[in-house]
Amino acid sequence: MCGIVGYIGNKEAFPILIKGLKRLEYRGYDSAGIALLNGDLNVFKKAGKVSELEKITNGKSVGANIGIGHTRWATHGEPNDVNAHPHLSQSNELAIIHNGIIENYAAIKAELEKRGYNFQSDTDTEVLINLIEEVRKTEKSSLEDAVRVALNEVVGAYAIVILDKKDPNHLIAARKGSPLVIGIGEDEFYIASDASPIIEYTQNVIYLDDQEYASVHRDGTYVIKTLGNVEKSHAIQKLELSLEAIEKGGYEHFMLKEIHEQPKALEDAMRGRMNALQGWIKLGGLSEYLSRIENAERFVITACGTSWHSGLIGEYLIEDLARVPVEVEYASEFRYRNPIIKESDVVFAISQSGETADTLAAIELAKERQALIYGICNVIGSSIARVSHAGSYTHAGPEIGVASTKAFSTQITLLTLIALQIAQSKGTISTSRLRTILYEMENIPKKIKETLELDSQIKELAAIYKDARNFLYLGRGYNFPVALEGALKLKEISYIHAEGYPAAEMKHGPIALIDEEMPVVFLATNQSAYEKIVSNVQEVKARKGKIIAVVNKGDTQIRALADHVIEVPETEEVLSPLVTIVPLQLLAYHIAIMRGCNVDQPRNLAKSVTVE
Ligand code: GLU
Repeated sequence: MCGIVGYIGNKEAFPILIKGLKRLEYRGYDSAGIALLNGDLNVFKKAGKVSELEKITNGKSVGANIGIGHTRWATHGEPNDVNAHPHLSQSNELAIIHNGIIENYAAIKAELEKRGYNFQSDTDTEVLINLIEEVRKTEKSSLEDAVRVALNEVVGAYAIVILDKKDPNHLIAARKGSPLVIGIGEDEFYIASDASPIIEYTQNVIYLDDQEYASVHRDGTYVIKTLGNVEKSHAIQKLELSLEAIEKGGYEHFMLKEIHEQPKALEDAMRGRMNALQGWIKLGGLSEYLSRIENAERFVITACGTSWHSGLIGEYLIEDLARVPVEVEYASEFRYRNPIIKESDVVFAISQSGETADTLAAIELAKERQALIYGICNVIGSSIARVSHAGSYTHAGPEIGVASTKAFSTQITLLTLIALQIAQSKGTISTSRLRTILYEMENIPKKIKETLELDSQIKELAAIYKDARNFLYLGRGYNFPVALEGALKLKEISYIHAEGYPAAEMKHGPIALIDEEMPVVFLATNQSAYEKIVSNVQEVKARKGKIIAVVNKGDTQIRALADHVIEVPETEEVLSPLVTIVPLQLLAYHIAIMRGCNVDQPRNLAKSVTVE
């Protein structure tokens, strides 16, 4: 959600900022802008894509070696040119870019209006920059002090970068709740929401912590302080990201690339963490806290969106294999409903980006109540990774497509390993069963590869159903959350209304929707409730719904009833989501493409949802 990029050094800032904004496009945004300082402070901003912004700079003077750029995901005020960032202070001396929400902006705005401030935009951001200006003026303080004082007055979440017209040798960046990383080059600094705009210039980075700000100077010096004015020293870290990993590598879209990367992503998620032959599983983060985790009375899994779906699969896995009661909660609800959390609870927080604001807020609450926090995220060094007591990375590699694919399957892989390690340690699984599952896990990447070969068949199906107005996805047991995820994929990128349901629940409501116009996707692979699924398929057929069934190779019973079958390789029931989700990802992808949708950046959506 929203992208921030800043540069100070000896290079031309404009191309660095534009390229950086393009690299951040995947995060989701609706307008973009830049401010360049070269004696004059020049601001260009535009609703729409970064390419639109580029167009309005054609023929304009953009020479400067200090500047800031932003992709906005509107929260306060519609996505138009005026509300786009950067915003200037009333005197036109300060420029700001901001990711997040200033919750008490209305009260501050009213106070500033009394003091003669006028506002050009509807944003909370313009209020913040004017508050900083007002503090600087009234307290005759340095910009740095004014930023600190102002930030102590605001409630909310932010990552900001500020440029001062009077000081072309200096940028200030601060964060609370939204990520910021500082790239350190030779007498130059890059500031960004994530490492993608930085990677081609330097591998040396510092991740700012919450409630910290950094002052970076053209002479290569910098200082990092807390908002309480205490100086901090951070180790410079080496980026492990490769440029190749954040480019499309011959695929038409990031989403397609990421769907196809799943076999490798799963191998990476398992590597060094298990061995089927020797029958062991060892997740570093888990082993460290194993006795506390083993003795927990219950687990809570908290997450949002796709990660919440993998959390549901986690519930099935952990209860089934490790026999620990699990509750799965939307992070946004968990935080605000006064939940009962005990010291003996373990809270698993799942988020691809590791920056999801709702999940971070849930963690904060659970931490206050002394629960052990176990983070599962993909982005190394992300906020969730840092605030959790223990955790595991999914190692899926950068996921750029807004609709999550490989992050989902690697999250499930990790949850399977977690369930198995706890089960082994508690003795709730026999050695032979454990080995069977581990052997089968090693086979899963191959089975996903086989499933990916169904691409052209799924494309044909997409062509038949691309104009459907509604879709229903049904599954039972481990494949119920897969139905939810399949429906979410379709909604997110094709804008077709789709619902996922437990197959048996259909008769309690959604069955009313079924007619000859309604495609119903069944997850009907061999599993304990196979016969029950067959009955559910019958129920849809009796009402003339169009049946698309994901079945195992050789299935005859459902084939006889369905309009279309997608045959995937058979696997252990506990691992089946890792295979059955793949055709649903491809179906959503092809339908969206045929409908002319932007699959990598679907409307209104953000990759990393950093506001509550
Ligand atoms: N709240 C700010 C706005 O609406 C920033 C939104 C963002 O994170 O892009 O302008």
